[in-house]
Amino acid sequence: MTGTVDVDAVVEEARAAIGSASSLEEIRQVAVAVSGKKSPLAAVSRGLGALDPDSRRVLGQKLHEARTTIEGLVERRRSDIEAEELSTEMAGARIDLTEFVTGAIPAPPSRGHLHLVSQTRDALEDVFVGMGFEVAEGPEIESDWYNFGALNMPPAHPARGMFDTLYLNLGEPETTLLRTHTSPVQIHLMEDAVVNGVLPIHSVMPGRCYRRDTPDARHLAVFHQVEGLVVDKGITFADLAGTIEVFTTAYFGPDIHSRLRPAYFPFTEPSAEFEVTCTICHGPGCRTCSQTGWIELGGCGMIDPAVFEAVGIDPDEWTGFAFGFGIDRCAQMRHQIADMRSLIENDIRFLRQF
Ligand SMILES: [Zn+2]
Repeated sequence: MTGTVDVDAVVEEARAAIGSASSLEEIRQVAVAVSGKKSPLAAVSRGLGALDPDSRRVLGQKLHEARTTIEGLVERRRSDIEAEELSTEMAGARIDLTEFVTGAIPAPPSRGHLHLVSQTRDALEDVFVGMGFEVAEGPEIESDWYNFGALNMPPAHPARGMFDTLYLNLGEPETTLLRTHTSPVQIHLMEDAVVNGVLPIHSVMPGRCYRRDTPDARHLAVFHQVEGLVVDKGITFADLAGTIEVFTTAYFGPDIHSRLRPAYFPFTEPSAEFEVTCTICHGPGCRTCSQTGWIELGGCGMIDPAVFEAVGIDPDEWTGFAFGFGIDRCAQMRHQIADMRSLIENDIRFLRQF
């Protein structure tokens, strides 16, 4: 009726184009082409103004019907396509239990497990929790005060030589470093206990530590320790020795025992190193234990009154003990690992054994 555009023909062309659209993107493009601003219908609509009123009314009505028809076709096709895409997706996700695999059967995906060090830490935590300890943690980045000062090692104290580390910041505003032992967590716990009035303390503190050491068969520059701390009234050296012995037999087995040997640490007085029965020869002596039948595991002692004073605990009222040892060393002894560096080399053939 406009002389150039047959509205019925436009609707039929649109019907064909809509019917052949096969994806949501295609239907979107078709919808723009058949009813958008540049479509033939839009051109007809723009020409309405030039018509006489009767013709305008008739053609206007026809245009409206055409648009309604086309919109309906687009909507129906869109929902059909959505349903098709959903059923295709579901069919793809279905497991075909009758599937027949020809040729070599692919290996099933392997499942990982916790690293030996994590397993060892968990096992140690279990032993200590069973003995009534709580588990606590502290930061790996420490200030000079927490790592040394509060532990009775003021600046230039010669004992700092045993704990050389990696410094993050020297001096202003304060010296920060990677902690060389888990002992600073003792200070945090005691400070918190004083502030919150929650003494006594019976805690173990596992965690990662750092030293400026060259790795060898028995040392790593990044290693793991577990620290123990008991602060209570009337605690004696016998409590310390008994705790170490109970832990040793619980973790290593009933034929492995412990003994204490006098030693020196700045933050305990008296101090001891504790040794356990050689896990290779179980006592008679071998190359690993230098024919002694014992292997050193960690350090321990009664908390030095200077440490109590540093955190504001009255050493006349409270006593306590602390101990610490290497988690990696425990794993090495229990599983008879020749070289501790195996723990950090990520060789899957080694790790799979545990
Ligand atoms: Zn031995």
